[in-house]
Amino acid sequence: MLYIDGQWRKSESEFNVYNPANGEVIGTAADGNKSDTKNAIEAAKTAFASWSKLTAYERSRYLYKAYEIMMERKEDLARLMTLEQGKPLKAARNEVQYGADFLLWYAEEAKRIYGEVIPAPRKDQRFIAIRQPVGVVGAITPWNYPISMITRKVAPALAAGCTVVLKPAEQTPLCAIEVFKVLADAGIPKGVVNLIPSSQPAVIGEELLTNQDVKKITFTGSTEVGKYIAEMAARNVKRVSMELGGHAPFIVFEDADPVHAAKGVSLVKFLNTGQACISPNRIFVHSSIAETFTETLMDRVRKLKAGNGLEEGVSIGPLVDEAAIEKVHLQVQDALEKGASIKLGGERLNDNGLDKGLFYSPTVLSGVTKEMRIYREETFGPVAPIITFDHDEEVIEMANDTHYGLAAYVYTQNLSKALSSFEQLNFGIIGINDINPTAAAAPFGGMKESGLGREGGREGIDEYLETKLGGFSI
Ligand code: NAP
Repeated sequence: MLYIDGQWRKSESEFNVYNPANGEVIGTAADGNKSDTKNAIEAAKTAFASWSKLTAYERSRYLYKAYEIMMERKEDLARLMTLEQGKPLKAARNEVQYGADFLLWYAEEAKRIYGEVIPAPRKDQRFIAIRQPVGVVGAITPWNYPISMITRKVAPALAAGCTVVLKPAEQTPLCAIEVFKVLADAGIPKGVVNLIPSSQPAVIGEELLTNQDVKKITFTGSTEVGKYIAEMAARNVKRVSMELGGHAPFIVFEDADPVHAAKGVSLVKFLNTGQACISPNRIFVHSSIAETFTETLMDRVRKLKAGNGLEEGVSIGPLVDEAAIEKVHLQVQDALEKGASIKLGGERLNDNGLDKGLFYSPTVLSGVTKEMRIYREETFGPVAPIITFDHDEEVIEMANDTHYGLAAYVYTQNLSKALSSFEQLNFGIIGINDINPTAAAAPFGGMKESGLGREGGREGIDEYLETKLGGFSI
């Protein structure tokens, strides 16, 4: 169903939604089109007039309510996410919590949209700056975190006083529908949030990008599509924020505990089967500890179990589609042809019924070099490529040698090294002996081609506000 102007509506056609763990159809979604998108934008424009006039306290109450409902439905939402996207149930529960946290965080931040009184240059003059909502927001979200990527946009937009038209990823419209049911059941007035699932991303995207009533575009997805969206938005001078791809380095310095670091990599690299924008894509290990590190990592990776995420003990879910499997496999083949060694994995998994789904074995590669595709391209799959280094200066340069700049990780017990790496790495999020540097209260976002702007934290709401200056002569 489409959700437009407070009503669940049918569309002219529908498309199937599949479980990537076994290829079964798990439901259908309305296939929104251009005219549905226009209607949704019109509804959002009308609703903006009243929603933006509510007090921050009133908007906050709706977000609190939505948070409470999402928490009540946590288990059902997590199960649906596992069915539709494939991540193991425990990870899905964590994501629902993370998604709900944005509703709670921005319920609070709504009340902190402060302005400024600025000293004016003339005695008879006063300057006051206020911040107001930008208007109707067009939001586009990906499949890999199908609930939290929605609330990370919708919660700050609503807190700021904006209204939203959202197009979710084609692979995960059912999670999006459930999030919008939460928002609807929280009593959020009609037209404030609108949902257009669709199998025609370019058509919906074009309407959002060219319609004069949409004042801002917020996008999470690949750098490739992000560049196109940014270009189109620029033509119409629409504000834009972008959360794009990543290619995270994971640096293990000579003084680090190699066993602890290997444990860290085994947890963060294989999270969501490597389908995370902050997933480590190049693991730089000092040559003096590389052997212990690699052995420990292999021991842990051998214990990972692939399968249907609803089954107990499964830690590796399926990849999203055939193209994803092919991309991962081509990167592994390319690395092997150019001299890397395979320590574990490196093949599609077909045994025990996994042939019905889209499974690739957790893989460890050693001897990876910068000539290999995996050294440059985002993998988005369960492959851990190990690169050894001998000098600290060299590794910072290697880590920064990418057009991506989202996340980076550093393992060291030396405080000076930790601080200097934190300062020198050109990435927006740095985990120092920490594999989970994310939370609703913390700014998330990338440098270079990994994005523009930040989501979450205090900064997240700024993306939905305009600053207006008043000069008063007295
Ligand atoms: P994607 O292919 O770029 O798609 C993202 C969204 O854009 C989907 O809703 C997609 O619709 C839509 N889209 C595709 N072409 C479009 C067009 N021409 N006009 C308008 N919308 C269009 O990315 P993805 O494969 O879903 O997600 C994986 C990527 O997202 C990775 O690169 C990952 O690093 C990045 N990501 C970044 C963050 C972050 O916070 N930085 C978080 C999560 C993911 P369809 O589904 O219909 O194709």
